[in-house]
Amino acid sequence: MFLKSIEVQGFKSFANKILFEFNDGITGIVGPNGSGKSNVADAVRWVLGEQSAKQLRGASMQDVIFSGTQNRKPQGYAYVAITLDNSDHSLPIDYDEVTVSRRVYRSGESEYLLNGAACRLRDINEMFYDTGIGKEGYSIIGQGQIDKILSGKPEDRRELFDEAAGIVKFKKRKNIAQKK
Ligand code: ATP
Ligand code: MG
Repeated sequence: MFLKSIEVQGFKSFANKILFEFNDGITGIVGPNGSGKSNVADAVRWVLGEQSAKQLRGASMQDVIFSGTQNRKPQGYAYVAITLDNSDHSLPIDYDEVTVSRRVYRSGESEYLLNGAACRLRDINEMFYDTGIGKEGYSIIGQGQIDKILSGKPEDRRELFDEAAGIVKFKKRKNIAQKK
């Protein structure tokens, strides 16, 4: 499985529709300070269901919507879609390609789509359990995160090992079953 593309429109500094395409292998994103490199990583976090404005370096969740510049009107919504190659079927879904997208309007109304069909955030979370992808995963290592892992509580660190070991889905299912 690998990331094939990220599409952004109206997300943070990306007013226009932009498509980043990646090949299997390593890609580096370079650019001057403030040019939007971190915003690309924020887009991936956000589409995977990030609910914390702080994690996205904003004050409120609406801050992800392009806020306009001197020459450009603000956008009415933010949209991000990521497409993953799933030809090895590491994601438990019957498609060789998986696109997850999220859109939020200024009114706060928001939606998630999985291969174009509306879905719940929970469906997306479940699909990514034990893959290291997801907002709790380790596929995005943010600034300061290594320190947090090293100095964190043993229980928090345990979650990372559970994810890597592939047992999160069983634990979650057990918790749900016990609640019923
Ligand atoms: P550095 O090298 O300093 O880490 P960077 O390339 O990672 O920089 P980012 O932090 O990704 O830069 O981008 C910051 C830019 O994004 C700022 O210019 C900021 O004004 C812009 N920005 C963030 N949110 C929005 C928004 N909602 N609307 C418009 N622009 C935004
Ligand atoms: Mg940065």
